[in-house]
Amino acid sequence: MPTEAYDIVVVGGGTAGTFAAATAASEGLDVIILERKSADEAGHIACGDAIKGTSTFPDVIDRNYLKSESFTNQRIQRAVFENPRGGSVDIDFADNGAVLDRKRYGEVLIEEAERSGADIQYNTVVQDISQADDGTVTGVHATRNGTTYTYKADITIDAAGALSILQDKTDFTGTYFDTNVSYSQFCSAYREVLEVPDPVEYDDAIVFKPTDELGYLWYFPRTATEITLD
Ligand SMILES: Cc1cc2nc3c(=O)[nH]c(=O)nc-3n(C[C@H](O)[C@H](O)[C@H](O)COP(=O)(O)OP(=O)(O)OC[C@H]3O[C@@H](n4cnc5c(N)ncnc54)[C@H](O)[C@@H]3O)c2cc1C
Repeated sequence: MPTEAYDIVVVGGGTAGTFAAATAASEGLDVIILERKSADEAGHIACGDAIKGTSTFPDVIDRNYLKSESFTNQRIQRAVFENPRGGSVDIDFADNGAVLDRKRYGEVLIEEAERSGADIQYNTVVQDISQADDGTVTGVHATRNGTTYTYKADITIDAAGALSILQDKTDFTGTYFDTNVSYSQFCSAYREVLEVPDPVEYDDAIVFKPTDELGYLWYFPRTATEITLD
């Protein structure tokens, strides 16, 4: 089984993984991100595409580059909550939010992690972790194109998202880690990006709209005519 060794292995090339990798790599550590998606698909996450508070993002990524590449609507000033029984509540934001092109946003975060010195392996699905007899996590096992690889590291970071398998694969006996999360506590989500023929009147807002049946839809205007629904 091919084996590679790093200071840090990061599982998942989403927001958490890329920021973690960029932070560690910019401190001179040898870091690899393992991402199950292809290079073309990586960065594409089902999301409402709204963002707020980028000024608090760590400096390891170039925020101006991120904004210029991926923020499509920077004038989001309020959230509108429509009440199913009628009426609505407007909540003004103290600072503007933005709606973005989520794929380009994810791609830029990966570019920035690489610019900081992190490596990334695409098409690499982490299947299991390796643990020493004393419980220390010593790395992961992953498959790429039918071959299983072992990645050894002093630190393994689980950034594989809400449905990460790593927590299930790790023996947490003797630790204080909370493993009491049931899959019944997750729900499915829907997301679509729509082109509408006429500009919407709420392109400065995100809108929380009750549906005819149970539930809500969020409207996130990327532009006045391109709306993310979820
Ligand atoms: C429908 C929906 C709408 C949302 N809207 C918003 C919003 O408008 N604004 C907002 O701020 N947040 C929103 N969120 C939440 C936001 O998407 C998450 O908080 C965020 O994506 C979490 O980032 P992450 O890096 O932890 O995980 P993720 O973004 O899920 O990234 C995990 C990465 O790990 C990879 N991966 C997973 N398993 C493996 C494996 N075994 N091996 C290798 N790679 C693996 C995945 O391919 C992925 O690239 C929304 C979420 C949903 C579901």
